[in-house]
Amino acid sequence: MRISIYQNKSARSQKVSDNLKILLSEHAERFIFDDVNPEVVISIGGDGTLLSAFQQYLDQIDQLRFVGVHTGHLGFYADWQEFELAELVESLLAAQPQTIQYPLLESLVKYRNGTQKRILSMNEAALKQISGTLAADVLIDGELFERFRGDGLTAATPTGSTAYNKAIGGAVMNPSLASIQLSEIASINNRVFRTLGSPLVVGPEEVIRIVPFNVDNEIILSHDHLNETTDQIEWIEFRVAKEQVSFASYRHTPFWRRVRNSFIGDEVVD
Ligand code: NAD
Repeated sequence: MRISIYQNKSARSQKVSDNLKILLSEHAERFIFDDVNPEVVISIGGDGTLLSAFQQYLDQIDQLRFVGVHTGHLGFYADWQEFELAELVESLLAAQPQTIQYPLLESLVKYRNGTQKRILSMNEAALKQISGTLAADVLIDGELFERFRGDGLTAATPTGSTAYNKAIGGAVMNPSLASIQLSEIASINNRVFRTLGSPLVVGPEEVIRIVPFNVDNEIILSHDHLNETTDQIEWIEFRVAKEQVSFASYRHTPFWRRVRNSFIGDEVVD
């Protein structure tokens, strides 16, 4: 099995990475370290580390699986804790490769100079205006749905629904649903300006197009942990990507248990 270890810069993650390398090296007949063409990428750190690893291996996303080891704060994408490395190696040795796949967001950005860029995100894309109000038409499948005014809009994957999307009032979605959730950031709603005012979810065949119309204002376009600032966006389209991200499910925590553990905790107060 060709393995790449991808860790963040913290001393703690570096130490975990060193320990894991030692354990894997004891089975040199089974594991080869290969950062260029890995079958399994083990991310060590937090969710941000896994998002970076995802971007790093984007062009091979159909051929590899991720495993998350959690040394960061939340670790929503990580099934293993840093003190469970021996069990992780055992499961890599023993288990038949099993995979769980999650939908990704495709963003297609058309710039005013005519160029286009396609971006894949694991969590979300967000469109936010730096100063003033973002004003944009929202179209679904080519039909005007609403004229948005407010701080911004996000388009989240189901696995990203627990991240930024949740913080702005979006719903948590089971990742078995191939869908994209559009959520508003502080929309202006009064007798003059009107938006839906709640998140909406589109299915795998639908396309959301955002057309900013106060075009001279700078917009931050972020996807996961990356972002660019531009006043050149003509439109941006969001859809469920044809690619999916795969996780090795040697030990897979059921989604709703993960949500409960992360946000509610174990304790039930009478
Ligand atoms: P960061 O270090 O600021 O992380 C933000 C937090 O989001 C971390 O606690 C991380 O564990 C958590 N997180 C990331 N993905 C998650 C997921 N799918 N489910 C639950 N929690 C998740 O930034 P980063 O590590 O570079 O991560 C970038 C992500 O941060 C973005 O994709 C966005 O979703 C999130 N973010 C959240 C807010 C917010 O909640 N107000 C604002 C900006 C960005």
